[in-house]
Parts: sequence; C-alpha cells; structure tokens
Amino acid sequence: MKVTEHIAQAKGKTLFSLEILPPMKGQDIQCTFKTLDPLVDLKPAFIDVTYHRQEYVYKQHDNGLLKRNSVRKRPGTVAICAAIQNHYKVDAIPHLICGGFTKENTEDALIDLNFLGIDNVLILRGDPIKSEKSFVPEKEGHAFASELIDQVAKMNAGHYLDDELQDTNATDFCIGVAGYPEKHFESPNLSMDMHFLKKKVDLGAEYIVTQMFFDNQKYIDFVKKCREMEILIPIIPGIKPLTTLNQLTTIPKNFYIDLPEALAIEVMKAKDREAIKEIGIEWCIEQSKELKRLGAPVLHYYTMSNSINTQRIAKAVF
Ligand code: FAD
Repeated sequence: MKVTEHIAQAKGKTLFSLEILPPMKGQDIQCTFKTLDPLVDLKPAFIDVTYHRQEYVYKQHDNGLLKRNSVRKRPGTVAICAAIQNHYKVDAIPHLICGGFTKENTEDALIDLNFLGIDNVLILRGDPIKSEKSFVPEKEGHAFASELIDQVAKMNAGHYLDDELQDTNATDFCIGVAGYPEKHFESPNLSMDMHFLKKKVDLGAEYIVTQMFFDNQKYIDFVKKCREMEILIPIIPGIKPLTTLNQLTTIPKNFYIDLPEALAIEVMKAKDREAIKEIGIEWCIEQSKELKRLGAPVLHYYTMSNSINTQRIAKAVF
C-alpha cells in the first residue's frame, strides 16, 4: 500500500515507521529479521531500507603499490525489501539514489521493484562518496533528486527511456523525498533549499521525510514554511535517540544539524554511558509524544539497526 494511503486510512492518528540499514556484506537476512522481529510486533506502517553505494578502498601490494578497489559494504536494498514484504507482510520502501546509477540502471531497478510489488520509493540524490569532494553524477545519470523524480513520474505515466516501446505498463510508485528542517548542508540558505524541495513536489513527490532533528521547534517552523510555500503533502518527521557521548559531536558533523543546549548539558553531566543512553531515550520519547500531539502523520525512527532503543521508545509512545 502507498504511504499516502496508510496516512489517509489512519484518519489523523499518528502512525509509526522505521528505517533500517542493510546488513554488512557477509551477514545473512536473519540479521535483518533479528532487528525487525521485536519492532514488527509494534505494527509499523512501513519500513524503509537505505541504499549504500560503492566506496573506494586502497590496498597495498607487496611491491608497495596501491590498488584501488570498489566495494559495497551494505548491498542488498532491493532484496531486503522483498524479503521484508514476503516475511512480515509490511510495506517495505527502498531508497533509490542518483549516485552510481545511469538512467538505464534506474529504469531497470524500477522495473524490478514494480515486479516485486513495491508501491513506494524514497528518491534521493545520495551523498558524495568518500573519495569525492562534492557529488559527481554518473555520465548518463541524474545530478539532483528532482531529475530522478521526473524519471519515476514519467514511468508512472507509462513513458520509458526507449520511446519506441509500445503498450508499456505504467508503474504506480508513490514517491517520497527528503526535506531538511535545518537546511541541506550544501544549500546557501533555507529558502533556496526549500525552493528545490518545492520543485521535487511539483514534479511528483507525494510525501516528505525529514532529516533527523532534536528540537521540535525546527519541525514546526519547517512545516509552517512549507505550507506557506504551498507544499501541502504530508511531512513525516524522522527522529532518533542520541545514545552516546561521542554523538554530541558526530551527529552535528555528519548530519549538519544542531543539538539543543539542554540536551547537550544533560549528556555532559551524565555519570556514565548507561545514564547518557537513558537521557537520550527519554528525550526522544518526549519529542515523539509532542510530535504526536502536534498531529504529525507518521513518526519515522532511524533505528540504525538498533531495535532495543527504538522498541522502548515506540512502546512508550504508541
Ligand atoms: P537534492 O534534493 O537533489 O538536493 C541536494 C542539494 O542540491 C540541496 O542543497 C538542494 O538545495 C540542491 N538542489 C536541488 N536541486 C537543485 C538544482 N536543480 N539546482 C541547484 N541546486 C539544487 N543517502 C544515501 O546515500 N542513501 C540513503 O538511503 C539515504 N537515505 C536518506 C533518507 C533521508 C530521510 C534523508 C533526509 C537523507 C538520506 N540520505 C541518503 C542522504 C541524502 O542522499 C543526502 O542528504 C544528499 O546529500 C541529498 O539528497 P537529496 O535527495 O536531499 O538531494
């Protein structure tokens, strides 16, 4: 079922959803099921599976020369979505990125997803890979999420890349996109970032999932600004608990977001690791309860494949 249909059927009740990562290469699907088993009991409306493109690693040979190898550490997004739908009968949503894909690769991936009965796709540009300073699109690929949305929207209208194809099947994907309450890191300002968000909506996006935030006021202001710009589709807050001292610096560094002063002070005063985890989980529970009161359509939890924390939060909130 489409995300928009889940939201419509809920009639104003806040739903619960999850994002997981594919397991590291070498692990089996039981690893994913082990993460999901306790969470699926709580009846998530849908489960997102992230996409991880290849990275380059350098290996030194006996003669001292370095060889560049291309590796994908977490392959399997599409197959994991199929396995989740098959095993749990819960909608699984693959993330589909521009990076590393030509338009032809994207079309083939969408054909596979359509055959597998996947109804939703979260469309993203993807980040630059570690060896690149800024995002470099494939030669025959897309430079921005909006271009990829346009390709999916065209397939939804029955138009494939080869315009000589006859009697084509129109796909019917519900398209989700990313939104950034604290702006995307490359954007010169929030207004310009939101201008491009509006473009994604005008091209066919039907719902937005936000980057994580720890201060609900950021979400409230973002939703208000979206509505003023006639971005009227559901805006799903993405959240996660802070659970380690290290994350006080890694979260702002990796996700380009601020952590509220009150949270940071509490974490710094905590006596040990367990106390920090408790503070982070309690913060996330309070954040979730407020977002629910505010009428957020879905609370989307970035589990980082840690089911125990998410299970505790979801049990306290739903
Ligand atoms: P875009 O919407 O293309 O925007 C990228 C930047 O370009 C922004 O600064 C925007 O303002 C600007 N821009 C957009 N259009 C134009 C234009 N026409 N001209 C000039 N500037 C423009 N990454 C992964 O690799 N795999 C994942 O599974 C994944 N899942 C994610 C899930 C969520 C909910 C979120 C919030 C992020 C996720 N990411 C993932 C990270 C994401 O790929 C990065 O944040 C990436 O840098 C931007 O992706 P985007 O889709 O927002 O890009």
